[in-house]
Amino acid sequence: MHNSTNDNKSTSKKKVVAVVGGGLVGALNACYFAKRGFQVEVFESREDIRQAKIVKGRSINLALSHRGRQALKQVGMEDTIVSKGIPMHSRMIHSLNGTQSPIPYGKKGQVILLYKILCFVTAAAETYPNTNLNFAHKLLDWSTETGAMTFVRAEGAKEEIQADLIVGCDGAFSAIRKQFLRQSRFNYSQTYIPHGYLELTMPPINGEFAMKPNYLHIWPRNTFMMIALPNLDKTFTCTLFMPFEEFEKVTTGDQVITFFQKYFPDAIPLIGAEALKRDYFRLPAQAMVSVKCSPYHLGDKCVLMGDAAHAVVPFYGQGMNAGFEDCLVFNEIMDQLNEDFSAVLPEYTRVRVPDDHAIADLAMYNYVEMRAHVNSKLFLFRKYVDNFLHIIMPRTIIPLYTMVTFTRTRYHKAVKRWHWQEKVINQGLLFCAAVSVAGCSYLLVRYPPNMPNIPTEQLWSRLQALKSPF
Ligand SMILES: Cc1cc2nc3c(=O)[nH]c(=O)nc-3n(C[C@H](O)[C@H](O)[C@H](O)COP(=O)(O)OP(=O)(O)OC[C@H]3O[C@@H](n4cnc5c(N)ncnc54)[C@H](O)[C@@H]3O)c2cc1C
Repeated sequence: MHNSTNDNKSTSKKKVVAVVGGGLVGALNACYFAKRGFQVEVFESREDIRQAKIVKGRSINLALSHRGRQALKQVGMEDTIVSKGIPMHSRMIHSLNGTQSPIPYGKKGQVILLYKILCFVTAAAETYPNTNLNFAHKLLDWSTETGAMTFVRAEGAKEEIQADLIVGCDGAFSAIRKQFLRQSRFNYSQTYIPHGYLELTMPPINGEFAMKPNYLHIWPRNTFMMIALPNLDKTFTCTLFMPFEEFEKVTTGDQVITFFQKYFPDAIPLIGAEALKRDYFRLPAQAMVSVKCSPYHLGDKCVLMGDAAHAVVPFYGQGMNAGFEDCLVFNEIMDQLNEDFSAVLPEYTRVRVPDDHAIADLAMYNYVEMRAHVNSKLFLFRKYVDNFLHIIMPRTIIPLYTMVTFTRTRYHKAVKRWHWQEKVINQGLLFCAAVSVAGCSYLLVRYPPNMPNIPTEQLWSRLQALKSPF
């Protein structure tokens, strides 16, 4: 999976990199550092996921797009991983009366839905001889002075470990980040959204997918939303997003059915009424948090990446992609600055913070857009206008979704460009509307239709009558 000629810029290099957190971003980072010839130690609090029978809580099918693919490509994993996924071409909007209408993504086959991606990335990290995966090692604390980390093993034993660089990839509730919070001039914010999510399974019908695969199915219902993503075993994972207070109102199986009859009637026969009544209560709804912080580094000792640096709400499908791009950007800076940690770490913060903050904000924006605006005719009209303008002027007008999902345009630059495009397009539409009104008025004046000659007073009283409710 990795090329031995490129692997070791210097095999004599003995620097130890400790990657804390063996999730998606930690496992990919291990590949990057190992490829550069560092001795890599990954510490993961859980057991090896590849041996786990049940993975609790966290969704295991994730949408991979351009940024994530580029990051995988750099370590030779793109083709292997993409071949294991399901390509998605469009969103499929389910209206309340059961009609379905697709909204294409733009580029066919570019968004890949992946199942068990963590297993593949972990297996890839393991193929490097200079990488050790230490499962069941939970970080308790670490010292910013010495860099010494204290881990607790599954059986309770404690272990102290030193490394030249600590890479904190331990997720949204990062233990590594706790030490950053004690530093002066460290900015930190965390926001829980009022919505939670709950996962349900839609089984296959006669061995086939119950709905069209290759689509992200969406049931937008203003304050609620359900989405469904296909799995390789022909099931769909349906994720219901809803305010916690609404989850709390539904307490019995019958209430679940009444709720679904009201909002998602077409999904009941597909999930099955009995399964719905049972699975709805299987796990409590999960919370979603958005975390922003800066800087991402502490001296030349420690750096944060992935959700540890920027947890984003999942409504742009970019959390993992942004985390993977973190690894790629760090790697590019390592090339530029000759792996000098004292220069690389601050530069990484300088480059990456504005981009991660921009995607966190965009994910929040999409949280509103996916639930409410996809129902709006004006929103759909604007999407078609944007896509049409993109077709005729592909370099000038690029829809925001395209920039975020199908390019590596820096997130904050994509936002800036989007604001500019919005202004230009809105002004253009206003201009077209004004020209149409002026044109029609001119034609009316120039070629007046044969109107009955109504006296002004009579016209006024007729207009007043229109205001009356009866
Ligand atoms: C419902 C939902 C859907 C999503 N869909 C998408 C999508 O379609 N596309 C996309 O790009 N992103 C998606 N995301 C976001 C994506 O799941 C995350 O951004 C991604 O998992 C972040 O990876 P990570 O490695 O940074 O963190 P995590 O995946 O959280 O991994 C952190 C790891 O650190 C370990 N750890 C924690 N504490 C310690 C400790 N003290 N010591 C040692 N180890 C520790 C944990 O066990 C874990 O394995 C979604 C998220 C949710 C909630």
